[in-house]
Amino acid sequence: MGTKFDVIVVGAGPAGLTAAQQLASKGFKVLVIERGKKPGSKNVFGGRIYAHVLDRLYPEYVKEAPVERWVRRERITMMTEDSWTTVDFETTKVEHKSFTAYLTNFVEWLDKKAEAAGAVVVSEVPVDSLIIKDGRVVGVRAGNDEVYGDVTIIAEGINRLVLERSGLAPKLSPEIVALGVKEVIKLSKEEINDRFNLDEDEGLAWVAAGFPTHYLPGGASYTLIRRP
Ligand SMILES: Cc1cc2nc3c(=O)[nH]c(=O)nc-3n(C[C@H](O)[C@H](O)[C@H](O)COP(=O)(O)OP(=O)(O)OC[C@H]3O[C@@H](n4cnc5c(N)ncnc54)[C@H](O)[C@@H]3O)c2cc1C
Repeated sequence: MGTKFDVIVVGAGPAGLTAAQQLASKGFKVLVIERGKKPGSKNVFGGRIYAHVLDRLYPEYVKEAPVERWVRRERITMMTEDSWTTVDFETTKVEHKSFTAYLTNFVEWLDKKAEAAGAVVVSEVPVDSLIIKDGRVVGVRAGNDEVYGDVTIIAEGINRLVLERSGLAPKLSPEIVALGVKEVIKLSKEEINDRFNLDEDEGLAWVAAGFPTHYLPGGASYTLIRRP
């Protein structure tokens, strides 16, 4: 480090890499700093990506992105312990509105797009703090390293510790965040298709409310992804 960049992005998640790709493709000198072993190693999600924004940002994504299944069926189930009712939506249209994916694979793809556009992405470097001079953020500190940029984009995710440590954001209070717990059940492609009555590569997204959270606000969602 030591060079000056037009833009420093903290965090190589979907937000940071997309910001980097967009800016690098417009000719800005962009550095992305990620604390994980590689982009994608620290990011968590359930499995469904809504695609409308991708149409605009990555027009080629339908052919290129690591899509598992296009979601063509939706279910919403209201449950008690022993009874339930379900609203079932189905379409035969190829809509490309949302798909299932492994976030790790998807973030790796976003990383390739950012680097192909000219962004420099460094991993295994946790940013400790922002360098603030005369009330302006002019760079970031990581260990003994300092790197400078005209603009710093903080894309560190919901645990915004860099922002909090810098006094630029208050500590999150429990009532404005939600806790997500994820369980992965491995089934073969054939088992998924058979159990959920799906065609080849057809996706289903299923949300449930009531009993799964013991009637507390929240819900459960199931996203069917092909076995790796
Ligand atoms: C259980 C669960 C299920 C979810 N399901 C879905 C879903 O199905 N569909 C969906 O669209 N969204 C889902 N989400 C939300 C989704 O995960 C987030 O919206 C998305 O990951 C946010 O992207 P981001 O780039 O802002 O942050 P993140 O993905 O959190 O990325 C932040 C990155 O910054 C890095 N970083 C953090 N601090 C530092 C630092 N100090 N220095 C360097 N790097 C740093 C992290 O390592 C990470 O790579 C789910 C979330 C959870 C928890």
